[in-house]
Amino acid sequence: MHLIELYKSVQGESSFTGVPCIFVRLAGCNLRCAWCDSEYTFTGGQPFTQDEIIAQIEALQPCRLVEFTGGEPMLQHKELIPLMQRLLDSNYTLMMETSGERPLADVPKAVHKIVDVKCPGAGSAANSFNMANLDALTPNDEVKFVLTDRTDYEFARDFINTNWLAPKCGEILLSPAFSKTPTDQRSTENATLDPRLVVEWMLADGLPARLSLQIHKYIWEPRKKGV
Ligand code: SF4
Repeated sequence: MHLIELYKSVQGESSFTGVPCIFVRLAGCNLRCAWCDSEYTFTGGQPFTQDEIIAQIEALQPCRLVEFTGGEPMLQHKELIPLMQRLLDSNYTLMMETSGERPLADVPKAVHKIVDVKCPGAGSAANSFNMANLDALTPNDEVKFVLTDRTDYEFARDFINTNWLAPKCGEILLSPAFSKTPTDQRSTENATLDPRLVVEWMLADGLPARLSLQIHKYIWEPRKKGV
C-alpha cells in the first residue's frame, strides 16, 4: 500500500471529534476538490505491506481508534479492505474518510465511514457522489458536506431532504470550507464560510445535521501537517 504518513493525534471532524486517534494517510486521489487541503497526497508516498502498517499502528499504542484517510483510501481497496478486517479482528475501532465517489458496498459494516457528498463549490469534483453508496450507509456512518457558500448549503439541504438521508446514517455533518491559504491564526477568520451563518441557516430550516469544525485547525496552526 502507498502511505503518505501515519501518526497519532486527536480526531478533528466527526462525532469522534477530540478523541485520540491514529491516522493512516494513504496516497493518491482521483478527484480535485477546489478547496482540498490535502494536495500533498496526490503523488508520492512510500510502499508498505499490511504487516508493516499494523506494526506502525502497534508501535503507537495505547490508542484503539484508527482512521484511514487520504487522498482517497478506496483507490487502494484491494489491500485496504483485508487490512481493515485484520484490525477489526484485533478489536480496533476503525474510521474511513472517503470522497463517496468509489463504491463502498464492500467496506466492512463495522467501519465508521465518513462519506463526502461534494457540493457545487467543490469545482470539478462537484456531483461526483456515487448515488449507489446511499445503500451502503449504516448507522455507524456519517455523511459530510463541505460548504463554501449559501449555494452549497442549499444543495446540501435539498440532498438531505430529497434522499431522506437522516434515517440512513448516524450523523450528517456540515463543514464550512477552510481557506487554502490560511494565516497562522487559529481562528474562524480562515473559514471561507462563517460557521455562524451555517448555524443560523440550520436553525432556520430545522435541518437534522451537526455543525462540524475541523478542530485540528484551531488547536494547531492551520497549515501544520501530521496533527
Ligand atoms: S477527495 Fe479529498 S483528497 Fe481528493 S481532492 Fe477532494 S478533498 Fe482532496
